[in-house]
Amino acid sequence: MTTAAFIWADALASYRFTPGHPLNPRRLQLTVELLERLGLIGDTPAPVVSPRYAADDEIAAVHDVAYIEAVRTASADPAQRAGYAAFGLGSEDVPVVPGMHDAARLVSGATLTAAEWVMTGRVQRAFSISGGLHHARRAEAAGFCIYNDLAMAARWLQRHYGARVMYLDVDAHHGDGVQWLCYDDPGVLTVSFHESGAFLFPGTGFIDELGEGDGYGYSVNVPLDAHTEDDSFFECFGTLVPELAAAYRPDVILLQAGCDAHVLDPLTHLRCTTSLYERITRLTCELADRYCGGKLIVTGGGGYAAYTVVPRAWALVWSALRGAEPPDQLPADWCRALRLESGQDIPPTLRDPADAFPPSPRRSEIEENNRRTVAAVRQQVLPLLTGWGLAF
Ligand SMILES: [Zn+2]
Repeated sequence: MTTAAFIWADALASYRFTPGHPLNPRRLQLTVELLERLGLIGDTPAPVVSPRYAADDEIAAVHDVAYIEAVRTASADPAQRAGYAAFGLGSEDVPVVPGMHDAARLVSGATLTAAEWVMTGRVQRAFSISGGLHHARRAEAAGFCIYNDLAMAARWLQRHYGARVMYLDVDAHHGDGVQWLCYDDPGVLTVSFHESGAFLFPGTGFIDELGEGDGYGYSVNVPLDAHTEDDSFFECFGTLVPELAAAYRPDVILLQAGCDAHVLDPLTHLRCTTSLYERITRLTCELADRYCGGKLIVTGGGGYAAYTVVPRAWALVWSALRGAEPPDQLPADWCRALRLESGQDIPPTLRDPADAFPPSPRRSEIEENNRRTVAAVRQQVLPLLTGWGLAF
């Protein structure tokens, strides 16, 4: 029987900025509500687990002490603004708000809790739905992210288990923070699929960002064309990731499952549907089973269509993790309540029907461009990884 832990406590919704900020924690509460309504969390094989806080030394394994101190000071005294800007604090993306240090270290602790439950064998898989803050840098907040829970989890896995970590990132934005924090480290293979930095924040994630020093070859980027749809996204993921896993032989997989590649997402230009996240999660589960004894840690991430997309996309991620086949139809009264709250039409099914959105007029051109990108990535990366694999 598949076992999976869902890391959650209401306090995780305290990671919030100003009213109207795109990162809306309501999306997390709505996902939890939906999973409860569908009977998908809280039973024996799929417990809800309370997060712990990340400890100071765990945060310092990833972030500069001066940066942590700045977050702590800003958190306690948001009005005293001098010196925050150098750390990316007080910007439009990362406003200074009271309590942000504790909120961010609880989110990081949630992803560490997920890692603990998986590595101690209490469950095979775990979902840290509030985590996935992949833009945070060593000494700089960025892109709504304060502390980088993903890099922290990678360091924790290395320190406590000597684990080789395969980091997969399917958020529509490049997983730049994790990449730069692990750029010289062959112990973490970072693989990011994202809308090309030519069109989207943070403007990085090109195929020649391959790592440095001992980490050269262990940073993989697949910049996708704007308007990429499900089949092309999944073709790229399904072509490359199994080959990379076979070459790298990870001990554990860490997946950032941000769902902002959806066509309804207001911040990006990809045209995917909720089904993509089910397909990606199922394939990642298979790879974790094949190479890692099942060990898989998944986080949330981006996702700014809080009512129309996020609960449905992450319900599919969680269903795949716990090996359940959820009913496609959503409870009608739940949809009605969301419609009243948001003023938006709520799609009535978990999976978007094939004809829900008009096809991209440039579909075949985009598919060809993405195929060329994957071919170029394979040519660059696989000889490096395979060569080193033979040397072990
Ligand atoms: Zn994103």
